[in-house]
Amino acid sequence: MTKRKTGYKMVGVSDVRDVNQTVFLHLIRERQPISRADIAKLTGLRPGTVSSIVNRLIKNNLVFEGTEGPSSGGRPPKNLYINGESFYVMAVDIGVLDTVFAVSDFNGRILKQRSIPSEGDPTRFLTKLASEISKLRNDHFSRSSFAGVGVSVPGLIDRETGTIEISPNLEWRNVPLRKTLEDELGLPVFVENDANAAAFSELWYGPREGNGSRTLLFVLVVEGLGTGLIINGELRVGPRFGLGGFGHMSIDPNGELCSCGRRGCWETFASERATVERYHRVTAKQGLPLVGLSEMIAKANAGDEMAMQSIKITAEYLGEGICNLAHGIYPETVVIGGDIIGAWPILEPIIRERVKSRYIVSPKQITIRPASVQRPSLFGAIPVALQNYFRSPGDRQAFRPQWTDGE
Ligand SMILES: [Zn+2]
Repeated sequence: MTKRKTGYKMVGVSDVRDVNQTVFLHLIRERQPISRADIAKLTGLRPGTVSSIVNRLIKNNLVFEGTEGPSSGGRPPKNLYINGESFYVMAVDIGVLDTVFAVSDFNGRILKQRSIPSEGDPTRFLTKLASEISKLRNDHFSRSSFAGVGVSVPGLIDRETGTIEISPNLEWRNVPLRKTLEDELGLPVFVENDANAAAFSELWYGPREGNGSRTLLFVLVVEGLGTGLIINGELRVGPRFGLGGFGHMSIDPNGELCSCGRRGCWETFASERATVERYHRVTAKQGLPLVGLSEMIAKANAGDEMAMQSIKITAEYLGEGICNLAHGIYPETVVIGGDIIGAWPILEPIIRERVKSRYIVSPKQITIRPASVQRPSLFGAIPVALQNYFRSPGDRQAFRPQWTDGE
């Protein structure tokens, strides 16, 4: 960890590093109230192992034992609950236009949220961001303990060092994001690609679908376009680098120049930017003023033909890309996130039809739905901060470990 300028209270890192503890916390958070016997049943771990881990969580004030559950004859089981207010995390979502940061409790509820424009050179911007984050802390959470900061950012990130290798859309290169924020905030900082974080938000906030064997493709439509993949209930990420998947998959090698320097990437057809620019190309000829995506969506939903048309074309390309990927991934669920889902009634039938008409086998099994939360890359930064926090450094790239028995 880097030097700490500030005197923030820290949760004892060495006490809570065990991978099993993360799994337990996740399980208790999802299913509370839950008994030790239930945990043993769900994980297949020995009751003694379960108790020893639970005891440590209780000792660390992360979990408490509450009202007794219904008795089945013998001694009634005590139920376990997350101590949601034992500490907080900071979630940061760096977008191309604005950066949102929020304080969340351990239950994943957002308590306070603010935003600033994403602008200026990265070092200056990150210093400003850190000072705004500190201000939010001092204003409302000056007596609280913070476990860490999760940051989601568009582009290629090195998860191990927390460096942004390159973000074409932010036009940043080799930015030591973790180091800068840790130095300024005195808290551990964990960084993830925005589309991976968005996929992670579905693991935490999405509906429980089936038995955990689900495959979910998340398509994050923002200024750029990224994808995150969940297979067997785990977020699939590379061992070290997170790029955000298939946004730079080329659909037309002779297409428009992409921010990455290549031509005809999927995001040049289906991102927010592509959608708005397509609309502007038509409206500019008529001397109409430029509008942002949300205004354009409002117009489309009110029946504006030109706005609708631009969104419909985006939907065609979303469907085309999803269908390409579906042939390789066979997702049970495709989730689309970003402000564009404000036009879901326009998008959905076109995406569905496109996937259906191009899919070689029957697409009946694919559920296509909008994201479970409004800004998935922000909500996804909460578990990024929490999950990573309990990992040993060597394991920090894997978010959902397999169950492991023993200590
Ligand atoms: Zn590209």
